[in-house]
Amino acid sequence: MFKFKAIGVSEGLAHAKALVIREADLTVVKDTITDVAAEQQRVLDSVEKAKKQIELLRDEAEKNIGAAEAEIFDAHLLMLDDPDFVEGMTNIIADEKVCAEYACFVNCENFQAMFRAMDDEYMQARAADIGDISQRVLKNLKGIADNAIDTITEPCILIANDLTPSDTAKIGTKPVVGFITRIGGRTSHSAIMARSMGIPAVAGAGDKAASIEDGADLLLDGTTGEVIADPDDETINQFAQKKKTEDERKATLAMFKEREGATSDGRRIVIEGNIGKPEDAVHVAELGGEGVGLFRSEFLFMDRNDLPSEEEQYAAYKQACEAMAGKPVIIRTLDIGGDKDVPALGLEKEQNPFLGYRAIRICLNQTDLFLTQLRALLRAAQHGDLRIMFPMISSIEEIRNAKHVLRQAKDLLAAENIPFNPNVKVGIMVEIPVAAICADMLAKEVDFFSIGTNDLIQYSCAVDRINEKISYLYRPLHPGVLRLIEMTAKAANENGIEVGVCGEMAGTPGMAPVLCGLGVTNLSMSASSMLAAKADLAAHSYGECKELAGRLVAATNATEAEQIFAEWRG
Ligand code: PEP
Ligand code: MG
Repeated sequence: MFKFKAIGVSEGLAHAKALVIREADLTVVKDTITDVAAEQQRVLDSVEKAKKQIELLRDEAEKNIGAAEAEIFDAHLLMLDDPDFVEGMTNIIADEKVCAEYACFVNCENFQAMFRAMDDEYMQARAADIGDISQRVLKNLKGIADNAIDTITEPCILIANDLTPSDTAKIGTKPVVGFITRIGGRTSHSAIMARSMGIPAVAGAGDKAASIEDGADLLLDGTTGEVIADPDDETINQFAQKKKTEDERKATLAMFKEREGATSDGRRIVIEGNIGKPEDAVHVAELGGEGVGLFRSEFLFMDRNDLPSEEEQYAAYKQACEAMAGKPVIIRTLDIGGDKDVPALGLEKEQNPFLGYRAIRICLNQTDLFLTQLRALLRAAQHGDLRIMFPMISSIEEIRNAKHVLRQAKDLLAAENIPFNPNVKVGIMVEIPVAAICADMLAKEVDFFSIGTNDLIQYSCAVDRINEKISYLYRPLHPGVLRLIEMTAKAANENGIEVGVCGEMAGTPGMAPVLCGLGVTNLSMSASSMLAAKADLAAHSYGECKELAGRLVAATNATEAEQIFAEWRG
């Protein structure tokens, strides 16, 4: 038996066998060969194998996700059938007398460069497809098995370097009872998705997870971050007991489903859920969410090689509104960049992606993309209390420019006689320190604020939110962070607008009273955290929350604030 502790990112307890997903070694060496025909045949066999794999994936996707998602695989099959693509590889082998792996790599680079040089944005985005199919051919050449997640049939706890959003989404359809990632933390997107699916997860395990063998018996605690491999009988029994207590606690929390969020003396705090897909709104409604405080619309754009059309977006936003039956649904416009990629946009890799060309910066530059989304949102707003939120705002100009494009979207819809709701509330994410500092001015421009603490902490403490090496510096209770939140809430309250927190801090156990005490009026979090937040609030008066917040803000450093908080929690 051995144990280690990493970062608990999605609460819950899991006991199952380990399934280790090994990172495929896709490095390529330029080996010279003599038997050209044999090497060319290896390419042809690998391409044929790739086609069969893709056909299977297409059929699965059609059955489990939908015809539209399956279309991407048809596009991949067409590319693999393209004689130029295959001959590109066989010609390189014949001309340069190099191995098939190297020919595959060079051919991929050539085709990607060709697509990227095209004028048409759609064709540029095809470079990502070339990358995908070439990687598949290369894996076949190297004898690397296809994605292990696709073949899971037994309950297991996954161990991986990190999980892409599509891997994480796939997990939801498999008997995966928990996962451990080597990199990442509470705010990486695999963690966020784990919480919305209610799957216990631990992140940032680094090399500690390296000695876990495939098939090992594992106990995982997604709250404390503790992992125990090959436990003895006594440990297994203790764990089972802990799980029983945990299940009982969850049952007690159920009484908060029908209640509104409020302190013991009735100060209202609206408790809402964060979602990434419209289907998730159903969980939020079922678990007593008083609205959707953050719909990360970018999840509709990720893990695919084309962009969602206005119609597709309209249907998704409408679905979320209908699931919430008149309760507010805040939809954030496209927030890509950082650890979120949209292959269809063919964005260049940047040195500092979290500080780069992202979110509202892209939308204000690529206004066609923005207009399509805004049109879909305005149309969907006929079906509920839909509100539009702009991410990564750093100045008044950005708000005014975004609102200008919103007006253009309304004018276009009106001119085309397409029905929409012109009275949509507009808000911004406050997640860049300068926005918090200038909150008094920004509050005059919008209907609501939502504080994105994931990024606000990252930017104010200058700590990459997904780098586990420096995760010790990522401290939500840093008095500087708390002061920025307090400042933002004060500006909002003085200007009579709502101020929420939709970063992971909102759903962290015990934080609801702190944020309430800082003046926040709404809290949006993973659906699985909402009941506990309501219970936390109901256990304290507003005066107690304010007193606690005051002590934390006045702490001389993060450690002192964390101690005050821990003592207060008891
Ligand atoms: C945040 O930054 O707190 C936030 C909610 O947005 P995201 O995690 O998607 O960056
Ligand atoms: Mg953010």
